[in-house]
Amino acid sequence: GYHPVQIGDSLNRRYQVVSKLGWGFFSTVWLCMDLSGRRVAVKVLKSGAGFAQAGQDEQALLRYSSSPVSRHPSSQRIVQLLDEFKLVGVNGVLCLVLELLGPSLRTWQLCLGNPGLMQPWVKQILTQVLQGLDYLHTRCKIIHTDIKPENILLHPKEHLKEISVKIADLGSSCWVYKHFSEEIQTRQYRSLEVLLGSEYGPPADIWSVACMHIGQIVELLGRIPPEVLHSGKHSAEYFDRRNLRRVDPVRPWRLYDVLVEKYNFLLEEASEFSNFLLHMLDYHTERRATAAQCLQHPWL
Ligand code: ATP
Ligand code: MG
Ligand code: MG
Repeated sequence: GYHPVQIGDSLNRRYQVVSKLGWGFFSTVWLCMDLSGRRVAVKVLKSGAGFAQAGQDEQALLRYSSSPVSRHPSSQRIVQLLDEFKLVGVNGVLCLVLELLGPSLRTWQLCLGNPGLMQPWVKQILTQVLQGLDYLHTRCKIIHTDIKPENILLHPKEHLKEISVKIADLGSSCWVYKHFSEEIQTRQYRSLEVLLGSEYGPPADIWSVACMHIGQIVELLGRIPPEVLHSGKHSAEYFDRRNLRRVDPVRPWRLYDVLVEKYNFLLEEASEFSNFLLHMLDYHTERRATAAQCLQHPWL
């Protein structure tokens, strides 16, 4: 269902296609120049059967998070919708005009290789992602549901002393009070409650910011209390009374020890940082730190 787009095309007689920025399961995204010479990103959504509804949902969520009603300084942490139009095609091809952002954190991680980002940058990036999530959760009542490095885009700035990032791709997002799917989140970042098939809400996004897999979850965070373990409709697939099925005996390795032994953290840093992460990885969704609470943590 991808709509064919060529370099040089003029979309809606207004946006001239300069180059391809990226693509995903739902769309292709193009760098375009508008009539005033401003550069924007145009997301051309798939329009085949089954995709039109997803496109309309993304449009509604983006309209709301970009609207003046929900305006707040942290709204700047979410990619802004600038315009929208339809092209002629199967079901009409929906196009969302977005502010132009840079490469994703994933691309950046790949370019940097080991040992990865320096801690002061990690803190700046986390702060901005949490500000964006606090805005989505509290102001907009939106759950992003797909927080991962691919969807955190760098915002180009002239000076390189500071980093600025924005949360992109509201394509799988939903409303706190209206979910579109039971199976949310990219597998590696999927929260315990979603893996188990229990109720989910904004705390699922916080888990993704921190993250992992049930076997590793238990190794790192300890035994899952029975009331959480049996709360989901998939619980029986993973657990046989108290033990994980199909997984080697779990070797516990506490987060604090992992930080010290594997990543050579200083003891004090390890204890502050593990404290920060453990609040985000609370098995009980009602006790898990909110984005606003994370922002208050001394580690940041
Ligand atoms: P997914 O399979 O991740 O759901 P999708 O079809 O919803 O994909 P996006 O993730 O929104 O599409 O965009 C696909 C890619 O296009 C991104 O990974 C990014 O590289 C690029 N991109 C998206 N929005 C922008 C933007 N505003 N500025 C620059 N590049 C962008
Ligand atoms: Mg994406
Ligand atoms: Mg998407």
